[in-house]
Amino acid sequence: MKGMMMHQPLLVSEILEFGAGAYPKAEIVSVRTEGDIHRETLVEFRERTIQLAHGLKAHGVELGDRVATLAWNGYRHMELYYAISGIGAVCHTINPRLSAEQMIYIVNHAEDKVLFLDTTFVPLIAAVKDHLPKDMTYVIMTDKAHMPDAPFEALCYEDLLEGQPTEIEWPLFDEETACGLCYTSGTTGNPKGALYSHRSTVLHGMMMSVMQTTTFNEGLSVLPVVPLFHVNAWGLPYSSLLSGMNMVMPGPALDGESLFKLMDQEKVFSAWGVPTIWQGLLGEIEKQGRKPEGFGDVVIGGSAAPRSMIEAFEKMDVSVGHAWGMTEMSPVGTHGIMPKWMENEPFDTRIDYKSKQGRRCFGVELKLVDEDGNRLPHDGKAVGELYVRGNTVVSGYFKNEEASAKALDSEGWFGTGDVATIDPNGFLSIQDRAKDLIKSGGEWISSIDLENIAMAHPAIAQAAAIGVAHPRWDERPILVAVAAEGAEKPDLDEVREHLSEHFAKWQLPDDVVWVDSIPLTATGKFSKLNLRKQLADYKHPELRETA
Ligand code: ADP
Repeated sequence: MKGMMMHQPLLVSEILEFGAGAYPKAEIVSVRTEGDIHRETLVEFRERTIQLAHGLKAHGVELGDRVATLAWNGYRHMELYYAISGIGAVCHTINPRLSAEQMIYIVNHAEDKVLFLDTTFVPLIAAVKDHLPKDMTYVIMTDKAHMPDAPFEALCYEDLLEGQPTEIEWPLFDEETACGLCYTSGTTGNPKGALYSHRSTVLHGMMMSVMQTTTFNEGLSVLPVVPLFHVNAWGLPYSSLLSGMNMVMPGPALDGESLFKLMDQEKVFSAWGVPTIWQGLLGEIEKQGRKPEGFGDVVIGGSAAPRSMIEAFEKMDVSVGHAWGMTEMSPVGTHGIMPKWMENEPFDTRIDYKSKQGRRCFGVELKLVDEDGNRLPHDGKAVGELYVRGNTVVSGYFKNEEASAKALDSEGWFGTGDVATIDPNGFLSIQDRAKDLIKSGGEWISSIDLENIAMAHPAIAQAAAIGVAHPRWDERPILVAVAAEGAEKPDLDEVREHLSEHFAKWQLPDDVVWVDSIPLTATGKFSKLNLRKQLADYKHPELRETA
């Protein structure tokens, strides 16, 4: 027997209407690329978003069209999120740290029709524009007074809004309609697109708001340092509006000093980002001898949060939520809130627990499997590959049949490529990574791509790329190489020069270690596990200098 309840599609536009209606005084505060601070209430935000939606339609954007953004965290980027999705188009956020090659690939693959960019990114687009779709409309996210002299034809963001009505009848469509697109690095080959739907996005926003009891409180301020260009800033653009929080948008300056100043000024309660960012902030806190006023909650994710970092925050009464997720999961999967029964445990026990990646969010199921796909117990001891299932997990990749076919196992679960344990209290602990990716400062580098291109160098017979621990960037890539017979070994600069055509500068290896042979697995692949063991005593060059 079916229930007799209404069926309203879960649409992103309803989050905007709810937020502006229920929390009209909540604010979005942004450090602008123009240099000043801009404030708008959710009522103003809604009006400008509606004007932008009309502006997009006036420029021919229709249901299903992809509209790209290349921008820092700021109110205009937020307006784009809601306006693009609101009219049924797809907001494709581009990571400016991608190499030119990857950026060209994803813009063409997504078939973006319009590209919105911050003034900062004009040179970046000028350099690749000849390889982007010919009929693309470019819009620079500023006002007339600050329009840069771009070497390509571009519209001005504020012109799109000007004179447009501030009311709209948001279109109703199927909740499965796509609303966002974010590409993630593949272990091999080109980036793959996670295509979020209105339904998955609304559910993810709701799921986070019920989970994170310490963060989400009306009237408090949240600082997403995690970028809007990377997996929807971990869902904050939605859950902040659902819970009535003020959003504080940092713009391009993410160093410790700038963040401290902004957090202090705006009395930010909760700040979200990757460990690298918090290293900078902790340095500034130490320098100032105090934490920013009002700071009480930090969410760390994207890479494992070091125990010492968790301890440092907790000692200054900043509650740490250690979160784990993936682009393919919208992205949040688990979050490290302490269970109530643990409150009276000794400090060290609590820090041990906070060093784990937390418990699952509602609607995200976790399973561990061994190499043959058999389920392993959640006993805190069995180590296996982690699979996930739920309404906020991808079912495949955008326009990529090959990758889609491999994404799910026979039971319909998504393989994360992470190796983990889960304890009887439900706490996930990531142990290792089965996928061949290196994560530096929260951003991926494909080790396989590095290896393949390195091995195209005539003097390199074999090359394996691995990540080594680095205090600032969590991990940095190095190359372990075998020289071709009779060849003179190229030095680091030459290897980097050889790779630089295909990689962004930050993706290049920091060192080359020459060896006689690279350990292989039973199937003849490089054994990264053994290689990592073999190099257990290896120290990144910067650590050697300071030792
Ligand atoms: P995000 O950077 O937003 O987490 P990505 O899709 O770029 O999303 O990266 C996901 C991967 O990052 C995970 O599969 C895992 O390898 C790693 N990761 C994310 N969060 C953590 C964490 N808290 N601890 C350890 N690894 C993490």
